Amino acid sequence: MVKVILEDVSKSFGSSKVVNDLNLTVNDKEFVTLLGPSGCGKTTTLRCIAGLETVDSGKIMVDDQVVNDKSPQDRDVAMVFQNYALYPFMTVRDNITFPLRIHKVPKDKVERKLRDVSEMLHITHLLPRKPKQLSGGEQQRVAVGRALVRDPKLFLLDEPFSNLDAKLRIETRSEIKSLQKGLGITTIFVTHDQAEAMALADRIAVMNQGSLQQIGTPDETYGKPANVMVAQFLGSPAMNVLNARFVKPDTIIIKDGVDVAVRRPEASKLASLSGVDEIRVGFRPEDAEFEIGGQDGIPAEVRVEEPSGTHMLLTLEASASLDQVKVVMPPGFAPRLGTKGRIRVREGKLNIFDAKSGDRVE
Ligand code: ATP
Repeated sequence: MVKVILEDVSKSFGSSKVVNDLNLTVNDKEFVTLLGPSGCGKTTTLRCIAGLETVDSGKIMVDDQVVNDKSPQDRDVAMVFQNYALYPFMTVRDNITFPLRIHKVPKDKVERKLRDVSEMLHITHLLPRKPKQLSGGEQQRVAVGRALVRDPKLFLLDEPFSNLDAKLRIETRSEIKSLQKGLGITTIFVTHDQAEAMALADRIAVMNQGSLQQIGTPDETYGKPANVMVAQFLGSPAMNVLNARFVKPDTIIIKDGVDVAVRRPEASKLASLSGVDEIRVGFRPEDAEFEIGGQDGIPAEVRVEEPSGTHMLLTLEASASLDQVKVVMPPGFAPRLGTKGRIRVREGKLNIFDAKSGDRVE
């Protein structure tokens, strides 16, 4: 069983605190992605877990043992970095077996591990080649093979797919996911790509400016974001978030525009909070629709149309607030630019945030 716990972990470089009182539990066999914008402290967090950085305060525990003072070698973790750093003059075979050979593992065991890992990663035919004779995806698989051959306790991956083209990236991520599930190795995967994080993770830990914003399953973080930052970071296009005012138990006014009725449960949650009247409302582009000339909803007009084959993405300008709102419509829905209508948010799909803190109102 391999469980990782970070307790109040902080790390600064000079005067800048890049990891800020981070608390995180990664359960045995779990696949957790650390997601957040560039510079939010994801890599530093991973390097602290690997032992490549020392923490300033807090505890890192693996299997209930504090590992703060353990060297990277003694932590028994395998890390795959953004640039895989394969040894260029070694064949794939030698690259993969290198970690075993330096630990003087018996030859027959090395051969057996090599065969197992190569078959699992479909790279047996590549074993005689040098890294420069491999595609990006193949190099990626070799780097993963080199990490896995040691049967690590913990698998740490830092943006390992960033050099791959979009198609290969999607293929490789399904391979990693099925591999991780098959081997049951507890895994922490750093990415700034929200689609990748959603596709891979059992749970996503969203970070911003060194702090954990939310940890939850892809459905939880996408469907019930803890704050505006999470709401807008997950999903492409991002969630629409508009300034609004709460006036009575069932009505929200978006800026000084039109009254938009809110269904009861959310309204009653709001009513129970004293002093919250300035709010922000959020809804996903796929949770709204645009009705030409409609009567209910937010008045808006069409500004941009982006067909994708599977749907039409409309950028609309709300008439009262002039906010830009994105709405996903069926393919072929292509009104003329400037067409006026109403944006309606589907029942139960409105997210409500405190205007000051940005936190979800619950
Ligand atoms: P990215 O997605 O761009 O890789 P990240 O979320 O992984 O970003 P980190 O690499 O952890 O972010 O960096 C967090 C902050 O710490 C950044 O502002 C970075 O410049 C800074 N930083 C990282 N390593 C060092 C270092 N060794 N010395 C000084 N500052 C550092």
